[in-house]
Amino acid sequence: MKGKVYLVGAGPGDFKLITLKGQDAIKAADAIVYDRLASPKLLDFRREDCELIYVGKESSNHTKTQDEINDIICQKALEGKIVTRLKGGDPYVFGRGGEEGQYLIERGVDVEVVPGITSAIGGLAYAGIPITHRDHASSFHVITGHLKDESSELDWDVLAKLKGTLVFLMGMSELKKITARLIENGMASTTPVGVINWATTDRQKVAVGTLIDIYEITQREGLTSPSLIVVGDVVKLREDLNFFEKKPLWGKKILVTRARSQSSKVVEKIYELGGTAIEFPVIKIKDLSHEPSIIEEIKRVKEYNYLIFTSQNGVKLFLNRMFSLGLDMRALDGAKIVAIGKVTAKELEKYHLYADIIPENYIAEGIYEELKDLLTPEDKILLPRAKESRDFLVEELGKLAQIKEVKIYETIIGEGAEKVEEVKSLLNKEEIDYITFTSSSTVKNLVKILGSADILKNQKLISIGPITSNTIEDFGLELYGEAEKYDIDGVLKVILNEEAEK
Ligand code: SAH
Repeated sequence: MKGKVYLVGAGPGDFKLITLKGQDAIKAADAIVYDRLASPKLLDFRREDCELIYVGKESSNHTKTQDEINDIICQKALEGKIVTRLKGGDPYVFGRGGEEGQYLIERGVDVEVVPGITSAIGGLAYAGIPITHRDHASSFHVITGHLKDESSELDWDVLAKLKGTLVFLMGMSELKKITARLIENGMASTTPVGVINWATTDRQKVAVGTLIDIYEITQREGLTSPSLIVVGDVVKLREDLNFFEKKPLWGKKILVTRARSQSSKVVEKIYELGGTAIEFPVIKIKDLSHEPSIIEEIKRVKEYNYLIFTSQNGVKLFLNRMFSLGLDMRALDGAKIVAIGKVTAKELEKYHLYADIIPENYIAEGIYEELKDLLTPEDKILLPRAKESRDFLVEELGKLAQIKEVKIYETIIGEGAEKVEEVKSLLNKEEIDYITFTSSSTVKNLVKILGSADILKNQKLISIGPITSNTIEDFGLELYGEAEKYDIDGVLKVILNEEAEK
């Protein structure tokens, strides 16, 4: 089979700014060749067996030379592979995309280019700066600030006279010179200048000044590469048009402790709200549904007239095991279904099962309240749930009816343990704004992984509900906030309310 190379623009940083075509090329790739400006999150779209080749360039410390990069891409394609060359921004805006394309085509390799949003435009937009505006700039000019030697000197006389917006890329090491040359050649020293560092990412930082003082401001604020330098009146519009840094959780770091398999929704929500989610999965779900005693119980599901689900995991593992045993939905015929909360009910809906009862309060006590007047001693209840669950439901419902608990999964230490040093250091430096706990086991396992609860003192601990809160307090820790509605939206609401009050 013939190989092919996709030269793909990854967009300026925010991974969602890639195009649909770009995403398809990542999914199709046998190998992805990428550098530091393409968001690492984009790599999550790849196939499991896809090879990753990092050819990142820090401006002074090149990991690979351009020749080596060309060669790697070419070799892979000639082996018959689909190679996706992922580049920050647009591949043809100072990305050497043109050179790579020529090199490949000369050697008979098929090339397709997928344009991307260049940082020169998209990066400005996220800083609240429109690159043109009827009242301020009717053209724009994107210029390299990477001035290798005197012979590649720019025509400052011409640049200084341009009325449009000037955007310099790769210009941070030359910022002093750029501003000086523009002034020397007649541009007003009061011309507004913006410098945008790590545009469109959660690290975005913006400095605003004029030609005369911007260099000092960036020095003081520690802005380095990668940054965009924007010169022109449009910079002033940032006061009106800055939307990104005004998101409710902008600049906030939130530690998410739940299992990796369940964290994606929370992470996505935090990201949409402008915050940074640090995934630290301290728990992991271990499936026990294959154990013979559990299989026996599931086979008898028809005998029960109540089924209580207390988690998404319980729903998934129970039903999938039931199906794999050759039973179908008719096995649940006539049973009333109870879901502890909305999320569990939603999971049931995926299987076209609609919960008959969802308690007001999403905890075991809530279920008890709902059932206590309904149950009779003839009723048979099946309760598939986590091994480490509290005794309350079994004890209390057991007084009213017949109940069988099926320990269908176990919560064990999660993969987060590998990142423990990194997280400890963030906690020590007080760089984490909130820690979220979505179950008692997330509290217990976090303490276990950290080795002690001490480091969690003085941190803002947010709990999903009273049981989790008790566990936090049992460790002698102070609770910062508890969700009103016992679900993940409730947890985020505590944080949003807190931030809104500031
Ligand atoms: N092809 C890219 C540009 C590559 S040149 C594009 O279209 O955006 C690399 C330069 O781009 C960096 O030195 C910096 O000036 C700029 N740049 C790219 N991404 C950036 C980002 N997220 N924030 C600030 N500058 C960025």
